[in-house]
Amino acid sequence: MTTKNLLVIATLIALLIPLERTILMSPSLSTSILNLPRMKFKGMEYINDNKNNLFIRISVRADKRYRARCSKCGSVASVNRNGFREARDAGAFGQIVYLHFEQREINCPHCGIRIEKLDFISPGARATKRFEESVAFLCRHMTISEVAQYFKLDWKTVKRIDKDYLLRTFEEISLDGLHVIGFDEVAKAKGHDYLTCVFDLRNNRLIRVLKGRKEASVAKFYEELGPERCKHIQAIAMDMWKPYFNAAMKYCPQAKIVYDKFHVIANYHKVID
Ligand SMILES: [Zn+2]
Repeated sequence: MTTKNLLVIATLIALLIPLERTILMSPSLSTSILNLPRMKFKGMEYINDNKNNLFIRISVRADKRYRARCSKCGSVASVNRNGFREARDAGAFGQIVYLHFEQREINCPHCGIRIEKLDFISPGARATKRFEESVAFLCRHMTISEVAQYFKLDWKTVKRIDKDYLLRTFEEISLDGLHVIGFDEVAKAKGHDYLTCVFDLRNNRLIRVLKGRKEASVAKFYEELGPERCKHIQAIAMDMWKPYFNAAMKYCPQAKIVYDKFHVIANYHKVID
């Protein structure tokens, strides 16, 4: 075989390899349809990976009209270097979608070297917020295995996405403006492992879940609340559980203690007996 023939064969192979992977390349897609703030559409590929899985990969780049922001404090920051990541995104056209996006390393005037803030994904996450939200929503209505089957994900990934989503959602709950709070214990495993749920009773919402039901566990909540906000607590509802009472007396001595009716009646019965 001549050198010329070898060159022709090599060129043909080189041309065929990308055809096996990328089935279709779209020339354009409106940036507003993508709903990814501060990003510009770059390209879309229809991929058939080696395991015969089909998915769409959408590529976006930072829109240079906007300045980069710090993922920790939100301040405008200078770009240190470019970087690219890929994350699972909400599906489209009945297909699995991966988002290939630019996320730059920045130099924040307050926090130093960080990753830039992007509104559609949390720092370090491997799925976009809208995908996490759909997973977490279905997890409220279906078992983890069913959600995994629906999204073609493994069980562990669904569990991790749901857990991360819940942690982030609960982290954002502010402890400002609390006046009436309540503590309630929940048994994780029958009669052994306990959690303490803390409620904002004026707004009927769960604000924290604490590990354990000892005084030290509850004290962590009051420490987070801080002395200034503790002064504004007018009433605390709780079970007749000494550690809850002790912690309340220590951090909010001005607050009125309201006991759960069930425990009050149970104690009356003890006295009568
Ligand atoms: Zn910063």
